[in-house]
Amino acid sequence: MTTTMTRPAPQLTDDKVLGAVCGLRPCRHGGLRIETETIGSKRVVHHYGHGGCGVTIAFGTTPIVMDLISQETDNSEPVTILGAGVVGLVTARALASQGHPVTVYADKVGKETTSVIAGAIWLPVGIEFGSRPEEIQRRDQILHAAFAELKSLDPKKYGIETLEVFEPKGTQTEEGLFTPGLIEEPELIDSFPFPCDAIAERRFSTLYIHTPRFLRTLIDDLKSLGVTIKQHRFTSHKELESLDDRLIINCTALGSRSLFGDDAVYPARGVLVHMQPQDLGYCVHDGYKYMFPREDALILGGCFQPDRDDDRPDEEMVREILDHHRRFFGSVCGVS
Ligand SMILES: Cc1cc2nc3c(=O)[nH]c(=O)nc-3n(C[C@H](O)[C@H](O)[C@H](O)COP(=O)(O)OP(=O)(O)OC[C@H]3O[C@@H](n4cnc5c(N)ncnc54)[C@H](O)[C@@H]3O)c2cc1C
Repeated sequence: MTTTMTRPAPQLTDDKVLGAVCGLRPCRHGGLRIETETIGSKRVVHHYGHGGCGVTIAFGTTPIVMDLISQETDNSEPVTILGAGVVGLVTARALASQGHPVTVYADKVGKETTSVIAGAIWLPVGIEFGSRPEEIQRRDQILHAAFAELKSLDPKKYGIETLEVFEPKGTQTEEGLFTPGLIEEPELIDSFPFPCDAIAERRFSTLYIHTPRFLRTLIDDLKSLGVTIKQHRFTSHKELESLDDRLIINCTALGSRSLFGDDAVYPARGVLVHMQPQDLGYCVHDGYKYMFPREDALILGGCFQPDRDDDRPDEEMVREILDHHRRFFGSVCGVS
């Protein structure tokens, strides 16, 4: 299908660069861990392993956790949550909404976490869901629940919108991205609706979540629900024993490697370049080299580097990202 040129190209000159950030995606060999374990006198419900798509699926994995909790207790039992990234915040919100008194303990909260680094586009990537029929069924259940919940939220308040995503020829895409009712099969296109030097191939639509606003609003929700958030880093199971609550939900993501001895947990490093915000109204997706028009910054990605746990952006990757996007758009982005 031929598209008409209706969108602007981004401006990618050096004076528009705000800086670079780096985050570690909390991945896990074998995928999500959502199960209950007895540790001393505590019942710990693990809820982690969201990899490269925690913003996408947190609202879909939380109902599974809620089911496990309902097998343990009724809605009046106080619950402690460890972790205040998107997974901890969404879990706390669901539990407090059901009437549980909730306390969240975290080393870092909301805008200090990996979760705020996410772009975030709604795409189930950077995670192992498994390929057995029951695993595919669980993946679809998670994705449908997450998508429906995000669609039900006030888009302005939570910073959620639907955006078109354009892919150039040769984009490497993971399996299982397109599901009827969620992200429909992409449409083939023979030109982009913006000036660009790359060859166009596909277009699809998905949700886009402006994570700084999204996380701020989730924290506001917790305050109105009477949830207490305390800053604390846990280093041992002995410390967990000192908590008043019997029921603990573990949403510590990468922290589960040392705190709960889970060697399947590993980081996948991602570097992003932040440019001055530009109201483009579309995303470009070329594997992990993507461009997202977040409201606080135009985000240029990136990379997916498994088992690298240095969380500082390096000059070499920043240069690679800028060069990639400048080549993609050509001279129209202000850099010849
Ligand atoms: C560059 C990059 C781009 C991404 N893009 C997207 C995207 O477009 N879409 C998408 O859906 N996802 C994306 N992600 C993935 C997403 O950010 C993660 O899946 C998500 O943030 C995981 O959330 P979480 O709450 O499990 O972990 P985190 O946000 O890491 O939160 C973990 C929490 O646990 C706390 N904690 C850890 N250890 C301890 C301890 N010992 N004691 C106390 N507290 C502890 C931390 O302080 C923190 O509060 C991206 C990630 C990166 C790095």
